[in-house]
Formats: sequence, C-alpha cells, structure tokens
Amino acid sequence: MSGRFTGKSILVTGAGSGIGLATAELFAREGASVLAVDLDEKIEGAFRENPSITVMRGDAGSEADVTAMIAAAVDRHGGLDVICANAGISGGMKGLFDQTAEDWETLLRVDLIGPFLAIKHGAKAMLAAERPGAIICTASVAGLRAGAGGPAYSAAKAGVINLVQTAAQQLTGSGIRVNAVCPGLIETGMTQALYDLARAKNRENMIGQLNPLQRGGDPVEIANAIGFLASDEASYVNGHALVVDGGLSTSHPFAKPRVLGETTF
Ligand code: NAP
Repeated sequence: MSGRFTGKSILVTGAGSGIGLATAELFAREGASVLAVDLDEKIEGAFRENPSITVMRGDAGSEADVTAMIAAAVDRHGGLDVICANAGISGGMKGLFDQTAEDWETLLRVDLIGPFLAIKHGAKAMLAAERPGAIICTASVAGLRAGAGGPAYSAAKAGVINLVQTAAQQLTGSGIRVNAVCPGLIETGMTQALYDLARAKNRENMIGQLNPLQRGGDPVEIANAIGFLASDEASYVNGHALVVDGGLSTSHPFAKPRVLGETTF
C-alpha cells in the first residue's frame, strides 16, 4: 500500500489500546511497517489481521526493553524512521497530600523517563543508520497547566513538553525532529472509567463540555496529529508541542454561556 509513510519503519509504544492503537493503524494504512509495543499481553492478540504491523511486549520505562524494541524495529524493517513514545499511565487523581514518593517514581518512570529513553536510543539508531527521522512523544494538556490530571502526571507531561524542546536543541545538525502532541480528553482505556460513569448516569452529553467543541475526542483525532508530525508535511516543525484538545486549554476558567448567541458580558 502506498501513502505518506511508504517504506518507513515506525515504532509505536503503548500500541495495545487507545491513541497508540489508532496511531499504529494509521501508519500501517499509509504504507509503513510498524512495530507495535505494549507492556500488556493484549498486544499479542492485536493487529492479527494487519500484515504491516508486528507486535512485541515491552516496558517503555525500562532502558533494556527500549533498546530491545528499537533493535527489533531495525532488525525487522531494516532501520527506524519514526518513533512514537506514546505509552503512559495516569496514576489516578490522588491529590498532593495523598500521593507518595513511590507513586511519583512509578509514574515518572513510564511517562517521563520513557520518552527520554525513546529519544536517546531512537535518535542513536537513526544517527547510526544515517537516516534522520521524526520522534513524537505523547504529552498532555495536563502538562500545560493544572487541572487535567494528578500532580505527578501533570508534572511528568510538563516535563515531556520541555524534553522535546531540549532534545530538539541537543540534536542540532542531525536532521532529527522531536515533537510532542498534547491531547485533551480522549476516550481510551485511560479514561474509560470516566466515560462509563457518565454513561451509567445518563450524563454522556456532559463529557467534554469544558471545551468549545463540547465533546470528547476520538483516538483517531490524536493519531492524525501524530501522523502530521511524523510526516514530511511537518518538515520544519521541531521542538513543538501540538495541542489537540478541542480548544480546552485556550481559556482561563469562567462561567460558560448556556445558550449559543446569548449575551454574556
Ligand atoms: P490507554 O488506552 O490506556 O493506552 C495506553 C497503553 O500503554 C495501554 O495499553 C497500557 O497498558 C500501555 N502501557 C502502560 N504502561 C506501559 C509501559 N510501561 N510500557 C508499555 N506500554 C505501557 O491510554 P491512552 O489514552 O491511549 O494513552 C496514550 C497516551 O496518551 C498516554 O501517554 C497518555 O498519558 C496520553 N494522553 C491521554 C489522554 C486521554 O484523554 N486519553 C489525554 C492526554 C494524554 P495497560 O492498559 O496495561 O496500562
């Protein structure tokens, strides 16, 4: 199949569910050979019908596993052109006084050290093959300001936004681009409990009401943004955090108008 990613070798972490799954499918649909990695065994049953996607179990927060998954992508597909450091955990919504140092260590290992390892070893592989490519990390609107996640999650995602800026600088002259995507509220495994609760209470129409589009997002809408950042269309986009949140993060909190067109001031 031909498309924007024909002949490209692409690695996606956290590909067993949600945004990672939609992203792996998008890349495969557009011509790439994809290595889809997830910690969970569900990855072994995923993509069975898709010959462009091979799978592997691995921990995105472990340096040994990250080097192994990158070696596997190079081995299976003759190189590595794009890496999507997407795997993440939410750590729940425990507040400042309830989170422990161990909670922070667990979360930072996956959500911040994971993207660092993907950039470090992914960029090394690209440089070794003299094939500069694109690295995309999944951050979050939670990394822009407070209120969209617990303290450790928000700090980790803010760290990812800075990490892509720092990495882009550190890779000066390499031709490798490093960017992040910042999703708003998306229906995935991570947010399923919230969606299920809203539906159980017949309040599905309340989901996403804080953003101007007044709906939650679909994983495909984030995959599309990741696809853009990975593609040649983004050839001059580097060190950027692309917000894809229906407009959620554009505003400070205020009382929203209930009726379109109503005078509110
Ligand atoms: P998801 O459906 O839970 O997908 C994440 C996948 O990553 C899961 O299959 C998960 O496995 C896996 N995973 C967890 N820890 C891993 C590790 N150490 N190594 C490899 N895989 C691991 O959630 P998602 O929403 O698609 O999350 C993808 C990314 O989007 C995350 O970085 C998340 O923080 C970010 N994000 C999501 C939203 C949202 O509203 N959904 C908003 C902003 C940012 P398990 O199911 O076993 O945990």
